[in-house]
Amino acid sequence: MKIVAVESSVVSVPFDMGGPHCRFAGKLWDKLEILLVRVETDDGLVGWGEAFGHAAIPATRAALDTIVAPLVIGKNAGDISALTREVLHSTHLLGRNSSFVYAWSGIEIALWDLLGKRAGLPIYQLLGNSSRTTLESYSSLLAYGDATIAARNTRAAADAGFRYVKLHETTREALLHAQSAVAGMDVQIMLDVNCPWDVPDALDKARSMRDDGMYWLEEPVWPPEDARGLARVRECGIPIAAGENVAGLQGFRTLLEAGAIDIAQPSVTKIGGIGEVMRIAALCAAHGVRVIPHSPYFGPGFIATLHIGAALPQSPLIEVLWMDMEANPFAPYVHAVNGMLSVPQGPGLGCDPNEEIMTRYRIGSVHRITTAEAYA
Ligand SMILES: [Mg+2]
Repeated sequence: MKIVAVESSVVSVPFDMGGPHCRFAGKLWDKLEILLVRVETDDGLVGWGEAFGHAAIPATRAALDTIVAPLVIGKNAGDISALTREVLHSTHLLGRNSSFVYAWSGIEIALWDLLGKRAGLPIYQLLGNSSRTTLESYSSLLAYGDATIAARNTRAAADAGFRYVKLHETTREALLHAQSAVAGMDVQIMLDVNCPWDVPDALDKARSMRDDGMYWLEEPVWPPEDARGLARVRECGIPIAAGENVAGLQGFRTLLEAGAIDIAQPSVTKIGGIGEVMRIAALCAAHGVRVIPHSPYFGPGFIATLHIGAALPQSPLIEVLWMDMEANPFAPYVHAVNGMLSVPQGPGLGCDPNEEIMTRYRIGSVHRITTAEAYA
């Protein structure tokens, strides 16, 4: 079936993050925005995808509308591997870990949705046909820069049934506060610091926390592609998680061959889509490294992560941001209940968006690309 149209649109939903709203890449983050990608084929089927995301949306959408969407118009929607190669080769001079790859990721997810709908099967069954229909999640708290708020929300997440809680804080104080807030409960704490330290500083920090019992330390080293530096920090003995900011399969190969990670975190809306995450998962399995995807999403990117999670040989934890959205067009699948998520069982993603919520929260217009002419 041929691709006849690609549409991009953005929904923007107010949310409560359990603390003061923070800044994301310099921009006040007070609305949760989702960049939706809708792909239509000549047999009338529609697939949905999501491209990264958050503060990057204007750039990703420009890449999608002007370059990446025109590249796929008229192409065979079912040959995802061939189209992946073609689009990524056509755009490689524009950046291998860039808005162009994020844009392609959104289309790729939509193509899997279409593939499943055409086959009458949920994506996870196309990927491996596991019998796993529920997945455990972890609560990923937002960045408060405040150990007291982080501890309060850690306890709230634990009371809501999460057995794993991740902080986006950078201090040992925040870690210890959070751990004491759930003392006596069966709850593990992770610390995601988002690449703040050069290697000597990261070594000092890791050594100071190595006996604190954290479940993992995420992205301690700047820049994120310093695989050797990360491997040195890992030698301190704390499990290291990383991968949301590396480029594709080869980026993960670099991390794995350096012995830099215990936990690989490919991000489906950034890395190139479902196929690339599955290729990375196979490589990680060969290195004995666990995959726990990065998924701070609330749309098809999150739903795609559920299908990946169901298909992986080892059940991963699924990242769920700790926030309260006013509404979500992909509810109820984006919400954990007692820490658990359900994998949609319908064909494809198994979860088309709620049109009424889409219309209510859409900002700007829908961009519809129907011609292979770039910059049209
Ligand atoms: Mg992270």
